[in-house]
Amino acid sequence: MIKQYLLSPGPTPIPNEVQLAMAQTMIHHRTPEFAVVLEEARQGLKTLFGTRNDVIILASSGTGAMEAAAANLFSPKDKVIVVNGGKFGERWLRICRAYGLDVVEIKVEWGTAVEVRAVEQALQAHPDTKGVLIQASETSTTTLHPVREIAALTRDGGPLMVVDGVTAVGVLSVPMDDWGIDVLVTGSQKAMMLPPGLAFIGLSDRAWQRTAETASPRFYFDLNSERKGQAKGSTAYTPAVSLVFGLCAALKLMREEGLDRVYARHDRMARATRAAMTAMGLELLSPDHPSPAATGLYVPEGTDGDALLDYLRARMGVTLAEGQDHLQGKVIRIAHVGYMGAFDVIVAVSALEMAFRKFGLPVTLGRGVAAAQEILLEALD
Ligand SMILES: *Cc1c(COP(=O)(O)O)cnc(C)c1O
Repeated sequence: MIKQYLLSPGPTPIPNEVQLAMAQTMIHHRTPEFAVVLEEARQGLKTLFGTRNDVIILASSGTGAMEAAAANLFSPKDKVIVVNGGKFGERWLRICRAYGLDVVEIKVEWGTAVEVRAVEQALQAHPDTKGVLIQASETSTTTLHPVREIAALTRDGGPLMVVDGVTAVGVLSVPMDDWGIDVLVTGSQKAMMLPPGLAFIGLSDRAWQRTAETASPRFYFDLNSERKGQAKGSTAYTPAVSLVFGLCAALKLMREEGLDRVYARHDRMARATRAAMTAMGLELLSPDHPSPAATGLYVPEGTDGDALLDYLRARMGVTLAEGQDHLQGKVIRIAHVGYMGAFDVIVAVSALEMAFRKFGLPVTLGRGVAAAQEILLEALD
């Protein structure tokens, strides 16, 4: 047997409390019992999203909530600005084009954050813009975009600020109402400590208003029909009942830890991982604006990153993530998101050191681990 460690940025490990909650006996979804569970989940999501408004629960992966945003908030030919700094920025682009939107793309080099000024200039050049779509944390490049500063540009009657928060919500504070974010989206299988299968979308007052004025086709992802049902304790279609049980358990774990501590834990794991990679002499994919959800690093010149990942998974039981597109084989991503803690970082770093040794790369065993330990000790103060 090789014990398995899932250290990828989704799916992520599931706490026992959540597993057990999901194993409860199935109940019918049009019952007072399910209404109670749904209401508890809805309240917990509002706190997590930092909003007074409704957060809608959908049975889909995170991309479903992204599609719901495009379908409900815009009409064909509406102009939108899309920040494209990685795989998920590219996904916004493709969804918007599928809905016939007129897309102004701001292309950002992978591993760097968009400049606030670039968005400001695009907004000035395109005063008819109806929405700005962006990632808070671009998971593919392990980079944070300056969402708070950009949201400040779209407030007070400007275009809608639409944020893919999939590896941000539950990782760092992204308070919708305070920052003036109009739409915030996340999915279950990353920071939410759940299996894949649920997506969440919160809308501001003016975003809800917009949904009544738009003409894009929508059916399964009609947010207004979901809103009406969910406010009364039922969903428009059959919900993922077991996952909603799990959601309540996951939200309870976050509440018990305290959101500030959840965010501090992610920040600490990320700093420890970066310190370890630097101590190992490796170059970070996103040195200036790194995401607290995952750390990307360039493998040494001439090394096949994918072969290294295969070795880590097959021989050591440690699953890390690959680089995508042009970074495939050149980059490795170590996740520290969701149900993870100090010793997941230690596992990732020590496994990487050992794999380096096996691949004949220069490495001093324990150097990266020690650098991580120095930072992880903070939690014991
Ligand atoms: C994982 C992820 C998504 C959603 O992907 P799904 O596979 O549809 O759940 C969207 N945006 C970001 C930034 C992600 O990391």
